[in-house]
Amino acid sequence: MARILSIFLLLLLAACNQIDRAIGNDDSKRKDATNYSYACLDSSLAGNRTGRTIERATNVIRDLAVSKKTITDSLETTYGEAFHRDMLAEGGMKLIGDAALDTRLNTALHRLLEQRTDPSGIRYVAYAVEDTVVNAFTFGGRIYITRGMLNRVAQDEALLYAIIGHEVGHSEAGHIKATIQDMALSEKLFGNNGTTFFELKRLLTASFNQKNELEADYYGINLTNRLGFDLCTVVTFWKEMASRENPYNKVEDFFRTHPFSDARAECLAGHIRTNFGKDCGALNKGASLPQVTR
Ligand SMILES: [Zn+2]
Repeated sequence: MARILSIFLLLLLAACNQIDRAIGNDDSKRKDATNYSYACLDSSLAGNRTGRTIERATNVIRDLAVSKKTITDSLETTYGEAFHRDMLAEGGMKLIGDAALDTRLNTALHRLLEQRTDPSGIRYVAYAVEDTVVNAFTFGGRIYITRGMLNRVAQDEALLYAIIGHEVGHSEAGHIKATIQDMALSEKLFGNNGTTFFELKRLLTASFNQKNELEADYYGINLTNRLGFDLCTVVTFWKEMASRENPYNKVEDFFRTHPFSDARAECLAGHIRTNFGKDCGALNKGASLPQVTR
């Protein structure tokens, strides 16, 4: 178990340039009044017929091999606890351990959790981790925000809430349960050598994982909106991220876990406009922000 969790974390971090990763599943527990549109992803391969076919086939195979009914909220929480314990014990991550910061993160987390319309029984805890990369990730109710992300967020509470809400969204929408199914399946197929399976999955599912990322974005935005925050700050964040990315490239997009930040900014601005009637401004690919090359 320790080993598979470590492998999983490595893959998770490798795939995450801004926000965490979760493997595809459309078995959403989410029930809220807003419209979740994925049409904004259609310019990438994520929205095409092949992507959807692979997604459906993978879901069927996964459910045949490891029934999703066996992955309960309680089991997901247990996996989260084991992951947290193993990662700390093996030095895979280091917590910042600042009590005031932990209180700030967990206050935000619990305010967001109270806004859920159909809450799961998953137990959540948020942590600040030592890492300069702008990132956040989650597993089994444990939510990790890096120092790099905290520096970026600074006093922008709306952005912090949207990011934590995004991580909650991955669990509430069943993405993490699908990941646990995949972990169980990989152990069945390959024993401790599950890496091969994960690598294969990563390639096969890269495009439709973008849908999961967007679903988690929408979920987080909806919770944040119910608390009365200005949501446009989140659009600005993704525009800024877009200014640091390479120009749009369809082939590269297929192999990415996450939507290009531009598409993400556009999808979120559309969601905010359609559902909450607020216009976050022209979406001209972050033109007002300085271009950063890497
Ligand atoms: Zn994510």
